[in-house]
Amino acid sequence: MNPAFDPRPSPRTAWFLALVVLLHACAYKNKEADLVVHNARIMTLDSAEHVYAAMAITNGRIVELGPEQQILNRYRAKETFDAAGQPVYPGFIDGHCHFLGYGLNKQKADLRNAKSWDEVLERTLAFAKAHPDTGWLLGRGWDQNLWALKDLPDNARLNQLIPDRPVLLQRIDGHAAVANQAALERAGLTAKSAISGGLIEVRDGRLTGLLVDNVVEVYQRIFDDAEAATKRQALLDAQRDCLAAGLTMVVDAGLDVNTIDLIQQMQQEGVLKIRIYAMISDKPENMERYAATGPMVSDRLIVRAVKCYADGALGSRGALLIKPYSDVDSTWNGLLRGSREHFLGIAQWCKAHGFQMATHCIGDSADRLLLGVYGEVLGGTNDLRWRIEHAQCMDPADFALFKANTVIPSVQPTHATSDMLWADERLGAERLANAYAYERLLRQNGLLALGTDFPVEGISPLNTFRSAVFRKNNEGVPAGGFQMADALTREEALRGMTIWNAIATFTEKDLGTLEVGKLADFVVLDRDLLRTAEGDLERTKVVATYVQGEHLP
Ligand SMILES: [Zn+2]
Repeated sequence: MNPAFDPRPSPRTAWFLALVVLLHACAYKNKEADLVVHNARIMTLDSAEHVYAAMAITNGRIVELGPEQQILNRYRAKETFDAAGQPVYPGFIDGHCHFLGYGLNKQKADLRNAKSWDEVLERTLAFAKAHPDTGWLLGRGWDQNLWALKDLPDNARLNQLIPDRPVLLQRIDGHAAVANQAALERAGLTAKSAISGGLIEVRDGRLTGLLVDNVVEVYQRIFDDAEAATKRQALLDAQRDCLAAGLTMVVDAGLDVNTIDLIQQMQQEGVLKIRIYAMISDKPENMERYAATGPMVSDRLIVRAVKCYADGALGSRGALLIKPYSDVDSTWNGLLRGSREHFLGIAQWCKAHGFQMATHCIGDSADRLLLGVYGEVLGGTNDLRWRIEHAQCMDPADFALFKANTVIPSVQPTHATSDMLWADERLGAERLANAYAYERLLRQNGLLALGTDFPVEGISPLNTFRSAVFRKNNEGVPAGGFQMADALTREEALRGMTIWNAIATFTEKDLGTLEVGKLADFVVLDRDLLRTAEGDLERTKVVATYVQGEHLP
C-alpha cells in the first residue's frame, strides 16, 4: 500500500491530536473569575454541611466551590485571596439592631453629668479632635443645675475654641442650646432675628449663642441641617464598625422614610455597601409612603417590614407582665404601648400590603397579646414570616402559638447574659425559668433569628455566639452557664447568625449559606467557631469581610 494513502494519522499528527484532546479535557484555567478564594475551610452551612477548600466568584456570585486544585486549575482570577487555612463563613447578619442609632451615638459628644461649663467645653473639644472629619458637631446633655455657677452659658469661649465648625450643644431636656457663631451663621441668625415664643439671647447688640425654648423654626432648621450631615456620617461610622465585626447585613429595627431615602442615596453613590433590611416604624407617614408603593426590594436595601412596640423593657419595669413585678410591692404590671386595636390595625395593613410585621414584646403579657393578634390575622400556618422581637419572658402555655401561626422568634442572646444579673428580681424564679428560652423557641418552627439590639448591647456577633452557646457573659459568668437547658448548639447559633436570619428577611435564595448561585457575602475568621475551645473564643478575630465578592475594609 502506498504509505501516502495510509488512513491512519502519521505519528506526528496523532501526537498533535492527543494534545488537543488533552487540553480540552483539562481545560486548564479556561474560565474567568473575578475572585478565587483558596487554601480555606469554607463552611458553607448548606443542608449537607459541605466544607470546601476553594471557591470562584463572578459578578458577586459564587460560581463554583470545590477542592483546591480543581478551582485553581480551572479559573483565571482577577484577584485571589489565600485564606491561609482559616475558616470562611457566610457573612454574619444581625437580625435586630439599630444601625443608624449606633452611628448617631458616636456622633454626639456626651455632656451628661458635666460638673461645669468648663467640663462641657473640654468634652466638646476632645470630641472634636476625635472626630475631625464631621461637619456639624452636636453635643447633648449639659445641665447648668449641676454646676456651682448655675447661670445659663454663652458661646464666647466656644467660639474661641471651635471657630470654624458649626457646633450645637443641647441642654439635657432639649429645650435650650448653645450654638457657636458658625452654627448661628449657618442658620442665618443675626441680632435682628426675632422668633415669637422663643429667646435668641442678645447682649450688647451681639448674639450670645443661647437659644431657649420655642425658637421652633430656627431651632428646627439648625437641627434638620445637623441631622442630615450627622446621619450621613453616622451611617458610615456604623458601616465601618459592622464590617470590622464580620457583619455583611443588618436588620435596622425601626427607621423613618427620610433615613431610608438617605440610605438608598448613599448606596447609589457607592459609599454605603453593607446590606440593610430596614423595618419602618409604625408611623402614619412611613406607612402612607409604602401603602402606595408596596415593599421595596433592591440590591442592598429591603423595605418590607413594619416595626411596632407592644411594651417597654424589663430593666425599667416597662415590660408588660401577666402578673405584677416581683420586686415592687404594688400591682405594677408594666406598660402597654398601644391598644389591641392599634396592633390589629397594623397587622391588617401588613397583610393587605404584603409587609412583614415585627413587634417588640418583652413581657409575657405583651407576647401573649401580640401572638393573639397575629393569630387572628394570619389564621394558622403560613409563609408570611411575621416576627416577635425579643420574646423574652414567655408564659409556658404560649410557646406553641409561635408554631400555630408560623411566627419567627427574633432573640438577642446577649440580653440573656446581661439581664441575668438582675432579671430574677423583676420576675422571680418561676417566671425566670421561662425567660430567654431560646432552645424552646427554636423548637417551634426550627429556626431563630439572632441579633444583638446594638447599641443596647455590643456590636460583635461573636458575643451573640458565646452567649447563645455558653450562656455566659464576657467575664465568663456564671461558671456553669445561665439556664443551660435553653442554650443553643454551636451549629444552631451559627445558623441563627446566617441562614435563619436570611429566612427571617426573605433573602435565603441569595444569602445565608455559601452555595453556587448565591451572593458572595462571607467572613474569614482566625478560629473555627465549631471547634475552638470556649476560653479561646474571646480572642477570635475577623480577618476579612466580603460583601458581594468585594473585600470591604
Ligand atoms: Zn431594638
